[in-house]
Amino acid sequence: MSESIVLEDPLRAAPARQVEKRVFIKSFGCQMNVYDAERMADIAAEEGFREARAVEDADLIVLNTCHIRERASEKIYSELGKLRELKDERRRAGQGTTLVVAGCLAQAEGVEILRRQPAVDVVVGPQSFHRLPELLREARLGPVVAADFPAEGKFVHLPAAAPEAIARRGVSAFVTVQEGCDKFCSFCVVPYTRGAEVSRSVGAVIDEIARLAAGGVREITLLGQNVNAYHGQGEDGRAVGLAGLIRAVSAVPGIARVRYATSHPGDMSDDLIEAHRDVEALAPSMHLPVQSGSDRVLRAMNRRHRAADYLDTVARVRAARPDIAFSSDFIVGYPGETDADFEATLELVRAVGFASAYAFKYSARPGTPAADAPRQIDAATKERRLARLQALIEEQLQAFNRATVGRRFEVLFEKPGRREGQLIGRSPYMQAVFADAPTSLIGVMAEVEIVGVEPHSLRGRVVSPAS
Ligand code: SAM
Ligand code: SF4
Repeated sequence: MSESIVLEDPLRAAPARQVEKRVFIKSFGCQMNVYDAERMADIAAEEGFREARAVEDADLIVLNTCHIRERASEKIYSELGKLRELKDERRRAGQGTTLVVAGCLAQAEGVEILRRQPAVDVVVGPQSFHRLPELLREARLGPVVAADFPAEGKFVHLPAAAPEAIARRGVSAFVTVQEGCDKFCSFCVVPYTRGAEVSRSVGAVIDEIARLAAGGVREITLLGQNVNAYHGQGEDGRAVGLAGLIRAVSAVPGIARVRYATSHPGDMSDDLIEAHRDVEALAPSMHLPVQSGSDRVLRAMNRRHRAADYLDTVARVRAARPDIAFSSDFIVGYPGETDADFEATLELVRAVGFASAYAFKYSARPGTPAADAPRQIDAATKERRLARLQALIEEQLQAFNRATVGRRFEVLFEKPGRREGQLIGRSPYMQAVFADAPTSLIGVMAEVEIVGVEPHSLRGRVVSPAS
């Protein structure tokens, strides 16, 4: 059993007795935050921290925050209130706690976080978290804020994940390849919280993925705020687009499946569409947010595409890869959205037929142009439109799942299921699939016949372990 001693400063070098420092990282929001949290865990591991099983046991607590909608931000302040009480309790028990707020709320609100919650020791934005070790040292003297956009990318400073950390990622891992956004949709905080678009080099991405593959990872999801705008430096110094990167990633030994998210409809290039036709490892699913089906609303949103452009892209992708499934994001109740605009959104959903989609009520974000736009939509109208859109999406999702019965898919098994003797994996379309299978099939892509549909998963029968 580990020995517990008073720990005033979690970064202090171990004295005579073995000090076991523990870190607890809680991530909110998008997949990019999940990836950032893993990289922060890698930094903490280098600094000698082990993962705490519960927040109560942690000497270092990191909240990796989201700012995309108002509710996401408010949830974090309420969480911080509880952590302040925990910090006080631990202090009374003679234990020190360092509280870090990272992520997009940290970037957007900076010192305001310290004003609203003085128990916070470090505020660090998403492009500065590689500086955590020095920030934690500085925080011994008082609270610190690091929310600048440093010129040099954080990635070069991040430590490589240790083998145990890779094992914790399981068989499927996220890898951020592109950060930031230059699009400035009028409702969105991302360009302000994540900064301008930057792409990692092909070499850096491939090195990271090769290490993950050597540690047992079989599926990679390439992440970016606008991942299809990726333009990283290739080995010969020339820029490579996402299609080239996907081809390079799928050639890494051990990598059986590649996905990417999230794409902007305006950056759907021909060579990326061709990759969907040619690259066997590229999953036949695409998350392509459209936000609205009304051209008037799309123009007001500064989306730089019309509904017809979106439908055309969907058709071009389907021509290249007929079995592809689309998912999307929608915002209802954008300022000035009329009933007719909303009907156009429903029409677009019917025209595409999505495998799944996320729908959000428009949330005014301070500092974005839409927040000050006239004709904000009342809460009841937003609620009503959201319910209608979600009902249609759910109908399409259920129809898509039902249509998989009798089909055979390659399922990548990830972990044991709830029942003894059962494994759970993912279909090429990201659906959870349960099947009776030995644990030796974890990390294996097996051919599975779908035999039934549950509300949130599919039941399958293993036909043969494929690869
Ligand atoms: N880059 C992606 C794109 O171009 O669509 C999306 C990134 S954003 C993190 C994820 C989703 O959050 C968006 O697609 C949008 O639907 C939603 N979102 C962003 N800002 C919002 C706001 N102010 N209110 C409601 N939903 C919002
Ligand atoms: Fe936000 Fe996506 Fe628009 Fe960029 S493209 S501003 S991330 S919604």
